[in-house]
Amino acid sequence: PERIVIAGASLAGLAAAHGLRERGFAGRLTLIGDEPHLPYDRPPLSKQVLRGLYSADTTLPRHPDLEAEFRLGLPATRLDPEERFVELGDGSRLPYDRLLIATGTRARPWPKPEEAALDGLYTLRGRDDAQRLGQRLQAKPRRVVLVGGGFIGFEVASTCRDLDIPVTLLVRDATPLAAALGAHLGGLIGEVAREKGVDLRLASEIERMEAEGGRLTAVTLKDGERIETDCLVAAIGTLRNVEWLDGSGLAADAKGLRCDAFCRALRRDGSVVRGVFAAGDVARWPNPHDDDALVAVEHWGNARAQAETAAGNMLAGDASAMRRHDHLPDFWSQQFGLTIKLVGLTDGADAFAVRHGSLEERRLVAVFGKEGRTVAAASIDSARWLPAYKAAIRERAPFPPIEEALDQPRLRVQEP
Ligand code: FAD
Repeated sequence: PERIVIAGASLAGLAAAHGLRERGFAGRLTLIGDEPHLPYDRPPLSKQVLRGLYSADTTLPRHPDLEAEFRLGLPATRLDPEERFVELGDGSRLPYDRLLIATGTRARPWPKPEEAALDGLYTLRGRDDAQRLGQRLQAKPRRVVLVGGGFIGFEVASTCRDLDIPVTLLVRDATPLAAALGAHLGGLIGEVAREKGVDLRLASEIERMEAEGGRLTAVTLKDGERIETDCLVAAIGTLRNVEWLDGSGLAADAKGLRCDAFCRALRRDGSVVRGVFAAGDVARWPNPHDDDALVAVEHWGNARAQAETAAGNMLAGDASAMRRHDHLPDFWSQQFGLTIKLVGLTDGADAFAVRHGSLEERRLVAVFGKEGRTVAAASIDSARWLPAYKAAIRERAPFPPIEEALDQPRLRVQEP
């Protein structure tokens, strides 16, 4: 190829650009980004940036020799895969030989637009969001109400407590973080959050908001309780940035942009779109660690690994020279003084066992099983044991994985 375009100038986009140049691609390389910033890192935004430890400028290191043109502050608005061009917000067209779609996700907006527009309501996805929310937190709001029982909600709650700000965390489900960590570990994190002073409400939702002069003043919960607050953070999930692909025939919807095991974008009929690849949070692909079930993973490690694979495959002559994307999903989070790490996917897990440490000690490695196979392992403050389980998860070893093979201490199995 002579001309490669990357739509989405963030982690996956930059990793692909590096991957292409490292593999000797010498042609023209353009990254399109709708944010005005050079690629930056998001994980510190909900952690160090909100705490005021880092500035919001978390620009990712760029290889000094990376020759690439950045078209920033301008969205890609249309793809024509037959004529092979991307149209930008200013109407200009960028032709390509290969295109990487890495437009990621955005924060799901608060569902009621009249409430979403209130002063005092925040979401967190980009560095501008982090800067705004960080400034608000430094000014010590009376009470922060957080909505959402996922990692971002918990990380922001943890940050608020570090800053000594009263915080109420509203979680719709009966267990926090259950989707990612299962009921035992989710319950444990919830317990720690409460000890650190978070007013954690499970099975709880907002009925309506009150405002004065456009400023949020209070929320009323479904059970009728009224909580005064001037700062609400909605951490209620993400939406995939695929609208710009409408009309292109690509298989893109709310679940992501479908691609094959080689990161090649697919049409709705399942055929391969020539020259178009996808990577990162926007992509949905067959997961070899789960019988090729389609999966979309919104984690840093996957975005980078998939971009690397896509870069190699973009330069491969044909499918026989391409590599499958077989990254084992992994993830980390820091909150309430705990470091949580996860490898594999816990979706549909039906068995759980603690290997090292214990729930009581709050230091442990736990393994997850599904239909008799080992599918994931999670650690709390014990990450050094985790790599030992990667092979078992890759091989989908019988659950629980055999101790001797892992050379690990005695197993304790707990019923889920
Ligand atoms: P994104 O980073 O979403 O980038 C996509 C880019 O494309 C964005 O800049 C977007 O504005 C742009 N774009 C969208 N549409 C268009 C368009 N039409 N034209 C041009 N540009 C467009 N993961 C972990 O594993 N561990 C963590 O601890 C962790 N913490 C996180 C904390 C926060 C606050 C957030 C928001 C995410 C965190 N993540 C974490 C997730 C991780 O940051 C993402 O998985 C990663 O950013 C995905 O990279 P990406 O390049 O695929 O997508």
